[in-house]
Amino acid sequence: MKIFTTRAAVSRYIDQQKKAGLLIGFVPTMGALHEGHLSLLRSAKEQTDLVVSSIFVNPTQFNDPKDLEKYPRPVEEDISKLQKGVCDVLFLPEVTEMYSEQENWHIELDGLDNMLEGILRPGHYQGVTQIVKKLFDTINPDFAFFGQKDYQQFLIISKMVKKLRMKVKLVMCPTVREYDGLAMSSRNIYLSETERKQSLALFQALQQTKKNFNKQPLQLLKSEAICYLNQSQGIDLEYFEICNASTLEPISSKRVRNLIALVAARIGKTRLIDNMILK
Ligand code: AMP
Repeated sequence: MKIFTTRAAVSRYIDQQKKAGLLIGFVPTMGALHEGHLSLLRSAKEQTDLVVSSIFVNPTQFNDPKDLEKYPRPVEEDISKLQKGVCDVLFLPEVTEMYSEQENWHIELDGLDNMLEGILRPGHYQGVTQIVKKLFDTINPDFAFFGQKDYQQFLIISKMVKKLRMKVKLVMCPTVREYDGLAMSSRNIYLSETERKQSLALFQALQQTKKNFNKQPLQLLKSEAICYLNQSQGIDLEYFEICNASTLEPISSKRVRNLIALVAARIGKTRLIDNMILK
């Protein structure tokens, strides 16, 4: 696996590979890699010729400085996981390589950044689109792979790609879960043993909603899930919504073509998100 730390060097290398006819697949991450990340790399390997990953803990997408400071950065372990896996190129820049000064530009996202996660984490998606745009400009991938786990992020990046007419094609890969259903996340390591058990309520609420989807009206599905989560020990619920999966607007009718349930909660000091496509 080749490792690059500067934009110029990785761009030059990938340019050469593209000129040689290789199809480039890109998997951006913030490191602390788990099976979820590795599944994206495997999808990239199946669909492209050269798999490029990046590890960069992007400061502009954190609205809580403490969260940024304590975000796990096990770089050596990550490199060895990537070396055993299917990654051909790792881009591992320092913050100064990606941001030379404070940057205030943002991309108009038609309000998609002011819903759900965007309300609770103001500015988060502007930070996400800033870094993903810079990474896309640097790597110039043919395909980029993202997890369904961060569903709103996928919609937002799709919007950015469309608005800026970028050539990259986006691929959404399924959420990888632990044996009991908890969605894998770099933040799961913060959970104590008790919190780890409590956090399962998120998956259970989503699963129950999906199971009852054809039997119950929407309002009841939603209120039962909220009631279940509010009664679950250790869960501090931030939102549980059933939305139009294309726009994230809350819906009142099942006639909408694609529906998704999304949830966010704090378990102790750890914030977790999850979702499930209902239709
Ligand atoms: P992160 O390192 O958290 O920024 O995530 C990097 C990429 O991995 C994003 O596209 C995430 O959606 C994806 N990802 C994170 N957790 C999972 C998971 N459990 N299953 C599938 N993809 C995931």
